[in-house]
Amino acid sequence: MSGTLTRLILCLGVIIGMVPIYVVVVMAVANQASGDYDTPFLVAGAVTGLCFMASWNMVWRTQVKWTNARIGLTTMLLPASLLLAVVAYGVVVAIESHATEVGIVLGTIAWAAGWLIGTALIWRETKPERAARLRAHGVHALPCPQCGYNLTGLTQTQCPECGTKFTLDQLVADALDQRAEASV
Ligand SMILES: [Zn+2]
Repeated sequence: MSGTLTRLILCLGVIIGMVPIYVVVVMAVANQASGDYDTPFLVAGAVTGLCFMASWNMVWRTQVKWTNARIGLTTMLLPASLLLAVVAYGVVVAIESHATEVGIVLGTIAWAAGWLIGTALIWRETKPERAARLRAHGVHALPCPQCGYNLTGLTQTQCPECGTKFTLDQLVADALDQRAEASV
């Protein structure tokens, strides 16, 4: 199974796994606070939301190129997505002032959706990053210094196209020069 497929299944598992956590916490807190309908949903929303964020980060952590900008934006995403939750709650209560539990549940969903969409945008690979990654692993990673034939995967240092023999240090030096030029 490829790493990407594993990660997608993990994501699905994380999202589905939040349902039993939410339900169990709602029931447990409701037992303690009988007659109070808001607290169970508030506590369950907070617990589930934090579990979700933590497991989401664990699934994707190694895939994200952590620049200072990404770390800063991801940190700001927590208050931003919580603000989204407050707005969703406010909208529901403005429409129907007694529907506070509905507001809390929708606020929790808004928080999770904000976190999902926000991380997808912030953690996305930029075009220059993608170009650098493809250059590093790409098919033209090691062209013959003489004729440009792709030497990737060869177990000897003679170019099969033009027949020129190289030493390893010549090939390495040439590849480093090429990359330095490409990244300017
Ligand atoms: Zn060659």
